[in-house]
Amino acid sequence: MSQFHRPLQCVRSLPTLGRLPSSNRQFSRLIAPSAIAKHFTTPGISQCRHNSSSTKWSPNMPSDEVTRYLQQSHDRVFENNRAWAEQQRRTDAGFFQKLSAGQEPEYLWIGCSDSRIPAEQITGLQAGEAFIHRNIANLVCNIDVNVMSVINYAVEHLHVKHIVVCGHYGCGGVKAAMTPQDLGILNPWLRNIRDVYRLHESELDEIDDNTERYNRLVELNVIEQCRNVIKTAAVQQSYAKNGFPIVHGWVFDFHDGLLKDLKIDFPAVLQDIQKIYNLTDN
Ligand SMILES: [Zn+2]
Repeated sequence: MSQFHRPLQCVRSLPTLGRLPSSNRQFSRLIAPSAIAKHFTTPGISQCRHNSSSTKWSPNMPSDEVTRYLQQSHDRVFENNRAWAEQQRRTDAGFFQKLSAGQEPEYLWIGCSDSRIPAEQITGLQAGEAFIHRNIANLVCNIDVNVMSVINYAVEHLHVKHIVVCGHYGCGGVKAAMTPQDLGILNPWLRNIRDVYRLHESELDEIDDNTERYNRLVELNVIEQCRNVIKTAAVQQSYAKNGFPIVHGWVFDFHDGLLKDLKIDFPAVLQDIQKIYNLTDN
């Protein structure tokens, strides 16, 4: 049996990740909200996020309570929104006037859809500073019109200076990809991660510790997605003309809340990629 299939034990042993999926329905539990999420609050709205009188959902809840719960969880967002808007007005009377004028974000952030990684909050970026795209396992697939449109628009029209691909340790998408199982509609998406494993099979198979190998696949996935960003014509042509954007690979760690910079050597990677993928007409 190859090392690729060994993480079956690895992922079972990771307490923050929940159980292995045995069906598509169970897979969704892997990216369900965690208790960790309560540690991330936006200044100014934290006072209304945790209403002790709110109903909590449980699987055996009677239908009328489910209805009340859904109404409360819906209303809470609007309460938070009103508090946030008021806080912004108090802090900066011209805030919404500036917001309405347009955007000129410095960063394009491509991250995982995982609910525990609020990009602006962990980086201190404010409204208007980051153009954001998120999907399961922060993938950049060249036939995904969504992410390709985001990159194109961010580079050619918003003139972002940095493109960040941010993964995270404990990624449910990467974990699911390491699980030898048919996951239905997720198969073609997760295949991209399995391909990353295949590309780096010898390095990963030399890592005996399951958790370390899993963490390294998270990092290698980020690096490969950065390479996919660099393969795009928009990035190559803008960099040749303007000297930006620069592409970065980061990984977020739930255990300490810190970002790890994988220190991608952008000019060197670009040069290497352009041996085959040069789209600058030079
Ligand atoms: Zn993830």
